[in-house]
Amino acid sequence: MKPHTTMGKETATTAPHPHALLVSFPGQGHINPVLRFAKRLASKGLLVTFSSTLDIGQRICASTETTPGTLNPVGEGHLRFEFFSNGWDADGDDDPSRRGDIDALLAQLSTVGSVRFAELVRRQAEEGRPVACVIGNPFMPWVLDVAGELNIPSAVLWVQSLAVFSIYYHYFHSTVDFPADYGSDDVVSVDLPGLPALAVDDLPSFLLESNPYKTLASVILSQFANINKATWVFANSFEELEHDALEAISKLSPVVPIGPLVETGVSGVIKGDIWKAEDCMEWLDRQQPRSVVYASVGSVVVLGRDEMAEMAYGLRDSGRAFLWVVREDCRHQLPEGFAEDVKGRGMVVAWSPQDEVLAHRAIACFVTHCGWNSTLELLTAGVPVIAYPQWGDQLTDAKFLVDVYKVGARLKAPVERGEFAKRVGEVTEGEKAEEVRGRCLALKEAAARAVAEGGSSDRNIQAFVDDIRRRVCGSKLEHDQHGKRL
Ligand code: UDP
Repeated sequence: MKPHTTMGKETATTAPHPHALLVSFPGQGHINPVLRFAKRLASKGLLVTFSSTLDIGQRICASTETTPGTLNPVGEGHLRFEFFSNGWDADGDDDPSRRGDIDALLAQLSTVGSVRFAELVRRQAEEGRPVACVIGNPFMPWVLDVAGELNIPSAVLWVQSLAVFSIYYHYFHSTVDFPADYGSDDVVSVDLPGLPALAVDDLPSFLLESNPYKTLASVILSQFANINKATWVFANSFEELEHDALEAISKLSPVVPIGPLVETGVSGVIKGDIWKAEDCMEWLDRQQPRSVVYASVGSVVVLGRDEMAEMAYGLRDSGRAFLWVVREDCRHQLPEGFAEDVKGRGMVVAWSPQDEVLAHRAIACFVTHCGWNSTLELLTAGVPVIAYPQWGDQLTDAKFLVDVYKVGARLKAPVERGEFAKRVGEVTEGEKAEEVRGRCLALKEAAARAVAEGGSSDRNIQAFVDDIRRRVCGSKLEHDQHGKRL
């Protein structure tokens, strides 16, 4: 008999509440916001299943306290995990080399993953918890088709900024001209409603001719062809941050901001890390307030050997303590003996509990590749940024962080050690740094207000939960002016 794709045993088979099923693309930058959305929905009384591929499920379980099949109480509701095979893991032999081949993965997910996912959805009804809503996320446009075939309402969680959503929307619908590539002078800047003028290097690089990830670009854009199949489109952003972009895009494509989907530095919560975080909190506890440079390029970016060396010596020469995430797959790029040489003043870890790190009082600034999760996490924590974007939407996020939100400085690529140390000084010392800090704190407060009870994010999530309940129960709920159920 074939192994069952569900991991572990169910501890409950009946659904006490309406059931929302969220499915995430198997990448850390997708899993985190989808899981955080899942928890916010569960906290408001839904039964929520978080799903992704089986190989990712196994890695999440190995690195966190997560156990599939367990019904975890979250606020007024429950969260459970159930994973599906993408066909590569049927014999339990996941070949890691295939994970890096994004084109092959996207194709496999679309052909095999979609069939297994449809089986998973059907199984929910058979097991007594019929799905009231399927929520997919970018890179998997087929989720909406599966939901449609099964006659289940669906939603999309957009996990990048509203600005980036808007850029892709306008590109897909050819409303304005876009430059062909870097260096071409066909279009000098792109002017879109609600956004500042964007130069070619502020655009998501997937839209340029030189982009090597053609399949990824076409999958991202293909979402705009079927997004109207979704009953709801949500975005991991908040009104107070992207007000103008939201207002402009909402006239063309209704999108509901429910972010920022960020943990607020609490340890021990249900997490979806695919690598085990190293313990660096005790070390941080021993550091002075606002003294440590935190550096990470997220879960995918790989820097070249020279860049790694310049960043290493830049951190060393910055004169500050530092915490640097160098993933296991990049460790060989470190200058020989570096981690040992800097021991005491610097800590190099393979993976950190980033949300807790950013919320720690010892952090002075964050050197980041500007993935959207890292961007929202630093804004929510009120930490100044040194933006070092590489590709995709990171370039647009960096533009907004530095020129629009004005919460830090841009580090030119390829990084050079002297320049690196200068940028650290710029955002941590002196008058400009104080101004940056003031803006960081204002955005931190705005983010906290958005997710607090009755804030913009909370209200939008509550409205969705109520809509689901109405559809399932046909009952109309009453709320007070702050959106709290009476
Ligand atoms: N992250 C983490 N520990 C690390 C590095 C990253 O927990 O050492 C998390 C980070 O908090 C964020 C996610 O991994 O939620 C990375 O997502 P992001 O969109 O910033 O970048 P991506 O990895 O998708 O490029």
